Amino acid sequence: MPLILDGKKARDSYKSRLIERVGALSCTPTLALVQIGDNRESTIYIEQKKKFGQTIGAHTEHIHLPENATENSISSRILALNRRDDVHGIIIQLPLPAHLDRLSLINLIDPEKDVDGLTDENQRLLEEGTPRHIPATAKGVSLLLDFYGISPAGKKAVVFGRSRLVGHPAAKLLEMKGADVSVCHSKTEDPEKISKTANILVVAVGKPGLIGARHVKEGAVVIDVGINSVSGAKLEEEIPKRKIVGDVDFEAVQSLASAISPVPGGVGPMTVLSLFDNLISSAEKSCPRQR
Ligand code: NAP
Repeated sequence: MPLILDGKKARDSYKSRLIERVGALSCTPTLALVQIGDNRESTIYIEQKKKFGQTIGAHTEHIHLPENATENSISSRILALNRRDDVHGIIIQLPLPAHLDRLSLINLIDPEKDVDGLTDENQRLLEEGTPRHIPATAKGVSLLLDFYGISPAGKKAVVFGRSRLVGHPAAKLLEMKGADVSVCHSKTEDPEKISKTANILVVAVGKPGLIGARHVKEGAVVIDVGINSVSGAKLEEEIPKRKIVGDVDFEAVQSLASAISPVPGGVGPMTVLSLFDNLISSAEKSCPRQR
């Protein structure tokens, strides 16, 4: 059996440090969560963030705008949040309704408060190797590896996916930690051949079961970032029942991997932790410490 990289255990261990950092501040770190529309998953993720924030003493403010909100009205809300000294982080919950341009809205966020690390400025800083806020999921992958004492230095790492949100920053972080990194994307030819070379394989695609035994070298560390909702129904009357699976076929890969992150319970909890880590760093810059 491979080592199971337990994100809840790692999160809870890092959490006590976050609580200490919040306690040392003269202000309450405050995260503004901007939601547009009523996407069900977005509502669940926002609730998870609010709940985690409460457990570490941070404050969250949920700004919920209607599905048909105009770009102008959203822009003015973001600019108002930028001006508030008592708000240290702003995130726009994705995905957005189709009529909105996500990048132009994200780029309105003050980069100091962009705790998702998605503005052009924060992406550029990461690219240059001097990150301000690292996108939370990529940072979560890195912290999960750290927690289990898995160093990427000198290893061959392969990342599936190259999005601004996950794949690209995850590859950059692994590279900064000394790994030799290859990236596979939707146009990559013969991805199995590339992934078979990996000591560390990170998968962030959004396709259930994409990665099977043919992709994994014996002894590899496999990090499954994917979150896919599939039917968990065994009987016809259970059809509305859904379950969450990753991008990796866990059953097929577990006999090869030396360590693997499960879905759920792997990278997911680390993402929320990392978001609040970024928020606290932002608050530490803008409000003085108590002692
Ligand atoms: P995304 O923006 O849709 O990007 C998907 C990436 O996968 C793209 O770069 C795409 O390549 C690549 N891809 C598509 N088919 C591929 C294939 N057959 N082989 C290799 N690469 C392929 O998705 P995302 O936002 O990065 O999210 C990826 C997954 O992570 C989703 O399941 C999402 O739900 C999950 N996620 C999890 C967390 C967490 O906390 N655990 C957080 C965020 C996201 P191209 O660039 O060529 O199109």
